[in-house]
Amino acid sequence: MLPFDSARQLVIAQSKSQAHPRPTLSLPISDALGHILAEEIRSDREYPPFHRSTRDGYAVRAADATPGASLRCIGEIKAGDTVAEPLPPGTCIQIMTGAAVPSGADAVFMIEFTSRSNDIVTFDRPAQPSQNIVARGSEAHAGDLVLPPGLRLGFAELAVAAQVGVTSIPCHKKPRVAILSTGDEVVPITETPGPFHIRNSNTISLAAQIELAGGVPVPLVNALDRVDDLSAKIEQGLRDDILVLSGGVSMGKYDLVESVLKGLGAEFFFDAVAIRPGKPTVFGRCRNTLVFGLPGNPVSTMVTFQLFVTPAIDILSGAEPRPLPLLEATLAESLQEKSGLTHFRPARLEWSASTPKVSPLRWQGSGDIAALTRSNCFLVVPSDHATIPAGEKVSVLPRFDVL
Ligand code: AMP
Ligand code: MG
Repeated sequence: MLPFDSARQLVIAQSKSQAHPRPTLSLPISDALGHILAEEIRSDREYPPFHRSTRDGYAVRAADATPGASLRCIGEIKAGDTVAEPLPPGTCIQIMTGAAVPSGADAVFMIEFTSRSNDIVTFDRPAQPSQNIVARGSEAHAGDLVLPPGLRLGFAELAVAAQVGVTSIPCHKKPRVAILSTGDEVVPITETPGPFHIRNSNTISLAAQIELAGGVPVPLVNALDRVDDLSAKIEQGLRDDILVLSGGVSMGKYDLVESVLKGLGAEFFFDAVAIRPGKPTVFGRCRNTLVFGLPGNPVSTMVTFQLFVTPAIDILSGAEPRPLPLLEATLAESLQEKSGLTHFRPARLEWSASTPKVSPLRWQGSGDIAALTRSNCFLVVPSDHATIPAGEKVSVLPRFDVL
């Protein structure tokens, strides 16, 4: 059975071979958050466009502003302004943060280190040339590449696009991810469940995870555990870039997902991973769609989505896959798990001490989504560890929606 990191590598390799050039669209900057940039963005001018003061204070010639020196202040420059005349030797000019430093001046003195009487300013320490000035063009020159294609557009990237005046952003279309939950016992959340029915929570959690991961969720109507119904619904899901199924991949008599997929021509890259929860996870390709068969127990579905589906969404979005952001933390209480599989235990990470501390949560197994709402991470218990004493360093996978 595959260790989870090898399974992830397989997902990454297969998704890359699937990632034919992604279609692009132009989005208003206000809608572009979370998309992947499709074309490079270059600087329209020098940044900063002028020698910019980074402090409120006095623009001086550094050589004039020696400790105890007094200089006559000849005016002021507000942000958005400058003065045409070069600064005469032996004088200074009051300047605000963000204003253009006049020619002749080569340093800005913070107002805190000066004293002023009428128009005479006295300095209490020496000035270093270029202090508190960001030189014109030092952040970017006109024509410089500021945002390369493939970049995920977060708040800083959108700010740079705004700065260089790009208000329509060339983005890759997000991949469409069909969601098909399976199970005779699973009923739509708008219906009243019978005594032995379960409401379909997985379609909701999967849609949320897909959206957070950067995909477009396409929920399908739940499939029954019957070959004809499963085939018909899977066919619908094969119209999209990725199909994520929940349920029907275990060893039960009515776990038919894998055999139905096979009947539709799927090839499989793995059909089990050495993890708990999530062991029966299936990954393959059917026609041109990457297919994930995730176990139906809600926590298994959520864990396996985060481990295996997110890199596929990254790659089909036009980005590099984001690494698993594993953290190291100190285990708060001793922990026992059966060895042989890597366990992902719902847990709570706290930063009250200098190093983060992680406490496993009490739970009833992988159906217990209520326990998961008290978690902010999964504690990763390696397959070769049966017992881990309190105080040991352990690895933690933050939940990608809350941390
Ligand atoms: P399965 O993987 O099909 O064997 O299902 C495992 C467990 O997950 C069963 O207890 C199912 O009732 C439950 N389950 C399956 N699909 C869903 C779903 N869409 N929403 C909530 N629970 C589900
Ligand atoms: Mg089932």
